[in-house]
Amino acid sequence: MKLPENVKYIINKLRAAGHRADIVGGCVRDFLRGVLPSDYDITTDATPEEMEEVFRDERVIKTGIKHGTLTVIIGGEPYEVTTYRVDGNYTDNRHPDSVTFTKELSGDLSRRDFTVNAIAYNDIDGYTDVFGGLRDIENKIIRAVGDPVVRFSEDALRILRALRFSATLGFKIEEETAKAIHTEKGRLKNVSAERVFTEWKKLIGGIYAYELISEYPDVIGDILGIEGEIKLPKKEDFLSADANIREMSIFAMNSGEAAKERFLSSMARLKADNKRRDFGEDVLENLGTRCENFLGITLLLIKSSPEVAEGVISLSELVTGKKTKAKEILQNLLQNGVCYRIGQLKIDGNDLKSLGISGRKIGEILNRLLLDIAYGKVKNEREALIKFVTESV
Ligand code: ATP
Ligand code: MG
Repeated sequence: MKLPENVKYIINKLRAAGHRADIVGGCVRDFLRGVLPSDYDITTDATPEEMEEVFRDERVIKTGIKHGTLTVIIGGEPYEVTTYRVDGNYTDNRHPDSVTFTKELSGDLSRRDFTVNAIAYNDIDGYTDVFGGLRDIENKIIRAVGDPVVRFSEDALRILRALRFSATLGFKIEEETAKAIHTEKGRLKNVSAERVFTEWKKLIGGIYAYELISEYPDVIGDILGIEGEIKLPKKEDFLSADANIREMSIFAMNSGEAAKERFLSSMARLKADNKRRDFGEDVLENLGTRCENFLGITLLLIKSSPEVAEGVISLSELVTGKKTKAKEILQNLLQNGVCYRIGQLKIDGNDLKSLGISGRKIGEILNRLLLDIAYGKVKNEREALIKFVTESV
């Protein structure tokens, strides 16, 4: 495995002081499956005090030091270096009551969630693979380290991590681990909404999300608050949609008329960000809009925005399984400067004031004009609009 220079520097520095250090976790997993790691976590037998001593001349961040993590900044990049750790008891299904440092790498590897995440590597010792992670990466398998029921009851977030890794990496979840996911899923209620949502966002965007949802509808249902079987759109269509639209399609296909309400209550429960929630609300709100022609799409633009209109079209094609010309029409309209915002009108509030109109009426009339233009009753031209307004009020 080829280590970046900064990582080598950190490992060598610890070695020079008589310690051992390895990279571990996601970076080893990703490298072994042929993907450039996004960040490197380093694990060491040096205690937090010893690490501070070794890196006394470097910029460091000590916020995680109680849990054994020192962030070392090399070349402007942060690297987390963590003392080998075994976790104490878990009484809340989420956080260990205590952490204990250990001198054994194997102890540190045994606290990790899945075999594929429990491989360590350095240039001198090579791979340290106590739990068969190398084989599991080769066979594309997610397998809990140790007894999955115990591991999921210690920390229920691991249930979601298993699903998320499977949905993003395309790894199958090993049988015992899968069984434990179904039996222990009730513990997910102990995981904070933010953590659930973070995992859910990655899961639903995964290129294997379709298979994953089909195989774990009970858990997905619990996450989203949907009961029973989960209907999904056509697989290829689902996979070519982005994460937001995929998410909405699940509500649209399984909650009928109540799709928007169910979506909103799920987003509230998951403490989703406002942007995602509001976008979904607007799209689901307009899902029934007929948008097969210029008029329909123009009316949709007037009610919403180009982004929402595009979302409505994508979602409606996804749930009906029928491709339409609507996106082309939308592009066409936008390129030709279709008038859908008050700011695009060739007259403004001041013009209306000169005509003796005041107060709330002004906004009402401007909005009304957008519709009149869309219906072809008047052109978006100054003279024509003024004449139209004068004659119609
Ligand atoms: P990602 O690609 O999402 O970063 P990752 O495996 O690196 O995946 P991190 O959350 O960065 O995930 O965690 C780093 C490592 O810490 C994991 O590979 C795993 O060994 C361990 N780990 C993380 N979360 C848990 C957990 N909840 N229980 C046990 N071990 C965990
Ligand atoms: Mg990581």
